[in-house]
Amino acid sequence: MTESRLSRLREAANGLDALLVTQPTNILYLSAFRGSAGSLLITAKRTFLITDFRYLERVRREVDPSWELVDGSGLDMARDLLPKLLAANSARRLGFESEHVSHDFFTRLAALPEIDPVPTRDLVEALREIKEPEEVERMRAAVRLGERIFTELLPLIGPDCTEADLAAEIEYRARRHGASACSFSPIVASGPRAAQPHAGFSRERLVPEAPLILDLGVVLDDYCSDMTRTVFFRGCPPRWRRIYELVREAKDRAFERIAPGAAAREVDAAAREIITRGGFGEQFGHGLGHGVGLPFKGGPILHWTSEDILRPGHVASIEPGIYLPGEGGVRIEDLFVVTPTGAEDLNRLSTDLLVVG
Ligand code: ZN
Ligand code: ZN
Repeated sequence: MTESRLSRLREAANGLDALLVTQPTNILYLSAFRGSAGSLLITAKRTFLITDFRYLERVRREVDPSWELVDGSGLDMARDLLPKLLAANSARRLGFESEHVSHDFFTRLAALPEIDPVPTRDLVEALREIKEPEEVERMRAAVRLGERIFTELLPLIGPDCTEADLAAEIEYRARRHGASACSFSPIVASGPRAAQPHAGFSRERLVPEAPLILDLGVVLDDYCSDMTRTVFFRGCPPRWRRIYELVREAKDRAFERIAPGAAAREVDAAAREIITRGGFGEQFGHGLGHGVGLPFKGGPILHWTSEDILRPGHVASIEPGIYLPGEGGVRIEDLFVVTPTGAEDLNRLSTDLLVVG
């Protein structure tokens, strides 16, 4: 797996003598190293993992020995390590990840006479976007766990329950059931707070006869899930029922458009058209979805400005929403994988309207 990723990366990085990978998720993808401090240096023939004393044992246990371990304890990457490693491999043109390198580090790199730093973007991200079958399997398991937690949450919803209580239950259950973390801090937003797409959670009790947005994700076996369901606490007024069905229809229509070769912006448009026709176009101000995989978001981007074209192996969310300031909001989110012939919804949990509590 690592070998084929590396050979595709070397192909994409052609023209460079070496590539320095510093973005942690890219490091995880290429080497399986999960420490919080490390870098990869990839030349035409060799691969180095540079870290420090805190992680040496971990690398020996978890990382394939084809990665040459460099103990950088007490050494400065720009001053002490890179010049030597590059010279030893006759490398001069060094690609770096321009979105993940500090200005300070770049300045020091650029001052070295023996190195030509070359900014690169999205080299590893582009590989990560297309999931291998094993990755889709892991995502399926993460989605399943997210759904299990959501299902366990429903009977706990009651009049004394605060948004924070439910967020705590999500995080606790995620770890209890084997996740290493939540893929983001859960969103639990009731009543008027549900009008904020990224509300977080508060210490307020749930608002009756109003929508309650639950947006949660887990990290299982390194892979993230991300799902949203909107339920109604102690009743659903007819107006909200209509809004809910509109959002659900938008999600279903968008899903039907997903196939290899489809333009991401057309999928976004399919959902947006339903919501606009229903009179709420202005209240759906965010894009339709985003890629998911290793932590956290990435391509493809489903948005009205997106240039992305969907390909087999893409995994992304579709999450249309309608938000009414001062009143509430509805969002429904599933993950899909693009297959060679169409798309598969990774979620199994029903989107039927649910009244709880
Ligand atoms: Zn979400
Ligand atoms: Zn999402």
